[in-house]
Amino acid sequence: TATMLQFKLVLLGDSSVGKSSIVHRFVKDSFDEFRESTIGAAFLSQTIKLEKHPDVTIKFEIWDTAGQERYKSLAPMYYRNANAALIVYDVTQPGSLVKAQSWVEELKNKVGDQDLVICLAGNKVDICDEDATAREVQREDAQLYAQEQGLLFYETSAKTGAGVSAIFQEIGERVYQK
Ligand code: GDP
Ligand code: MG
Repeated sequence: TATMLQFKLVLLGDSSVGKSSIVHRFVKDSFDEFRESTIGAAFLSQTIKLEKHPDVTIKFEIWDTAGQERYKSLAPMYYRNANAALIVYDVTQPGSLVKAQSWVEELKNKVGDQDLVICLAGNKVDICDEDATAREVQREDAQLYAQEQGLLFYETSAKTGAGVSAIFQEIGERVYQK
């Protein structure tokens, strides 16, 4: 029997790590080198079929938040009642992983992870594919952290699309199973 579910997903992370670009890759399958930074938050939606459960269709309602400090107080409005959080850092900016970790702490303290699927994504891997010396966060280090915290983990490139649809498939699968 065909099932249609709606899930609310919030994007969190430092500014410029590529949150909006990941959403645009997922929703429009496009990439923009000169994306304007998000003001407050943007709402987009996208529907997918679960590969492992082809009779299940999931509509993601996505809140793409602005990373700037001045919008930080708005974040709870978006992560409250969320089914999933995608926390993004930039693999060439180690400070952005520290920021991502503080979002993980905030979610665990304020929401509790029992009913929230949290995914950590290291974005901009295309830059390291071009120039290995650009990498500042090792995949293994971030993966170990994610494992310890019970988070899903992916490396992505909004530019090439690598990892992007896999993230949403996996999140959809996990939320569906909850
Ligand atoms: P946000 O502030 O987290 O929403 O980040 P944006 O999506 O606005 O992206 C910030 C900048 O990084 C923009 O110039 C994007 O074109 C660029 N960008 C985003 N994702 C990638 C990526 O995967 N690879 C590369 N090379 N650049 C990216
Ligand atoms: Mg943005």
